Amino acid sequence: MAVKKRPFSKLQCQECKRINYFTRKSKKAVEKLELKKFCKWCRKNTVHKEAKR
Ligand SMILES: [Zn+2]
Repeated sequence: MAVKKRPFSKLQCQECKRINYFTRKSKKAVEKLELKKFCKWCRKNTVHKEAKR
């Protein structure tokens, strides 16, 4: 199968719902990403989760 999957995941701030980061996913299906990152909109560290497409 020649399905091309984009290797990027979007990381969305769970407080303001903005997408702040893009991250690469490994080939194997990973569980939903959940990272603490700095959100420039919230101006603090918030939980960022992989956004749905
Ligand atoms: Zn935010």
